[in-house]
Amino acid sequence: TATVGVLALQGDVREHLTALTSCGVRAVPVRRAAELAAVDGLVLPGGESTTMSRLLGVFDLYAPLRAALADGLPAYGSCAGMIMLASRILDTRADARHLDALDITVRRNAFGRQVASFETDLAFAGITDRPDADPMRAVFIRAPWVEDVGSGVDVLATVPTGPAAGRIVAVRDGNVLATSFHPEVTGDLRVHQYFVEML
Ligand code: GLN
Repeated sequence: TATVGVLALQGDVREHLTALTSCGVRAVPVRRAAELAAVDGLVLPGGESTTMSRLLGVFDLYAPLRAALADGLPAYGSCAGMIMLASRILDTRADARHLDALDITVRRNAFGRQVASFETDLAFAGITDRPDADPMRAVFIRAPWVEDVGSGVDVLATVPTGPAAGRIVAVRDGNVLATSFHPEVTGDLRVHQYFVEML
C-alpha cells in the first residue's frame, strides 16, 4: 500500500486525508521533514497560499519540500496547493515563497469578485473521457487559474462556459498534478484516484 502525505500546515487537510483513505492508500499528515521523507506522494491542500508559504518557513519545511519535489516526489496541489507548486505566480505577496515544481503561471484569486466562488461541471482528460464516465463537478473557492503553461505541461481541464470559459483549471507535468478546484469537497474521488494511479 502506498503512503500519501497531506501537507498539514494550513487548509482543508482533513478532507484530503479522508478522500485518500477512501482511495485505499495510507494517508498521513505531513508537518515535519521526517514525515515528508516517509511518503510516496504528497497532496498540497487548498487554503491560503501566502499563509502556507509563511508556515513552510516556520516549520523548516521549505527547503526539504523543494528538494523532494526536485527529486521527483509525486505531488498533487489543489487551489492554494496549485499556487504553491507553480513556477510563476501573478498577484501574490512579494515575499511569498513557492516551490517551483510545475512549469505554469498561475493567477491568484483570478475569477474576480462576481464569480469568486462557483461550481460547474467540466470535462477532465483521462477521467471523464472514459466510457460511461459522468462529468466532473468542480467547486471553485477564490480559485486561481492557470494563465499559461510550459511546453511539457498537459492541460487536463478548462472552464466550459461563462465569463471564464476556456481558462485552464487542471494540469499535469509528469508526476505533478494540480487543479484550481476542490475535488476533496464533493465526494467525487476520481481526481485523488487519478493521483494515486500516478504513484
Ligand atoms: N485564494 C487562495 C490563495 O490565494 C486560494 C483559495 C483556496 O485554496 N481555496 O491562496
